[in-house]
Amino acid sequence: MPPKPSRDPDARSLLEELVGFDTVSSNSNLALIEFISAYLFRFGIQSTLIRDETGTKADLLATIGPSDTGGLMLAGHTDVVPVENQDWATDPFRVDERKGRLYGRGTCDMKGFIAVVLAAVPELANTRLRRPIHLAFTYDEETGCFGGRALARHLERLKIRPLRCVVGEPTGMAVVDGHKGKLSVDCHVRGAEGHSAFIDKGVNAVEIAAEIVAHLRAMQKNLRREGPFDSRFDPPFTTIHTGQMQGGIARNIIPKDCRFEFEIRNLPHQDPGEILAELRSYISDTLLPEMQAVAPKSGVEIDIQSDIPALAPDEENEILTVALQLTGTNAPGRISFATEAGLYQGVGIPTIVCGPGHIAQAHKPDEFVALDQIALCRTFLHDIIAANDRA
Ligand SMILES: [Zn+2]
Repeated sequence: MPPKPSRDPDARSLLEELVGFDTVSSNSNLALIEFISAYLFRFGIQSTLIRDETGTKADLLATIGPSDTGGLMLAGHTDVVPVENQDWATDPFRVDERKGRLYGRGTCDMKGFIAVVLAAVPELANTRLRRPIHLAFTYDEETGCFGGRALARHLERLKIRPLRCVVGEPTGMAVVDGHKGKLSVDCHVRGAEGHSAFIDKGVNAVEIAAEIVAHLRAMQKNLRREGPFDSRFDPPFTTIHTGQMQGGIARNIIPKDCRFEFEIRNLPHQDPGEILAELRSYISDTLLPEMQAVAPKSGVEIDIQSDIPALAPDEENEILTVALQLTGTNAPGRISFATEAGLYQGVGIPTIVCGPGHIAQAHKPDEFVALDQIALCRTFLHDIIAANDRA
């Protein structure tokens, strides 16, 4: 049976190709990056690959149009979240169309956006652009924006940098000018083992960890009560959350080790470092003296697993003004999930977030993007590329 014609065959077929690459963050993304690089090469566009230290992952940066001036960067991540233990109706790595929706891992977060960008390439390559379009596709966003950080470092060193950026994370094509930051922290409590009949001879790592988690929870309650607040975020305050904990081996052994993971999702104008500093002083003033009086080698290790800066709203941001005009919106939205946008803003590139699909459909079984979102994204990109050329 011949395939049914769809409203957007180019982006659709590109999305099928992209979804077919299993780029779950634990895997290499190189096959997908090479696919994009070869695709761009067909239109005479060279790609720069920025590899990670293992050589198994890479960011791709490519410029269409003049190279002596900066332009508009269209940015997205190529990795996706895992599908294990999720109940999918169809193969997550094959696009399945049902009732105006394209199902598959990454269709929404965020290969749909990348497909629409790539579908625009043939026309862009044939246009005499005054200002360039930069394409930036990264690795390991889902595990801590490591590819975005590497790309931001690369951009910072360039003589000619992009002047503005759209990160196409799923916002339902709403224009977003701010998102929370995310500080991910690993904590390891090292206690001292012993027979549980003699608790005074050991340091119970599980109980110390519980005290630290309780302290984090008290700080969370305080933020919720006292703020600071920004009503355009949901929830409108900085959040602290412990997501995982492991420790101990048996009821009658004083546990030697306990590990847990927590995160701080901060409003743009709140420094998560200050929250972490408060936790560190609680540990060193209150917990360590008691622990080390029993076992001098006991202690608490705190490691930052990743640090994703917030995107701070900026009313002077001209790409924001343009995007609001193009979409006929009065006020930009704010999102509580972190993206790579704050990293690019951090190296001086005014950035907004706007992309097809809704975050509620991301990271879930039967993830999908609606075809009308793809069509809206295509119109938006066409218009913002035109605006970039006039700027
Ligand atoms: Zn994403």
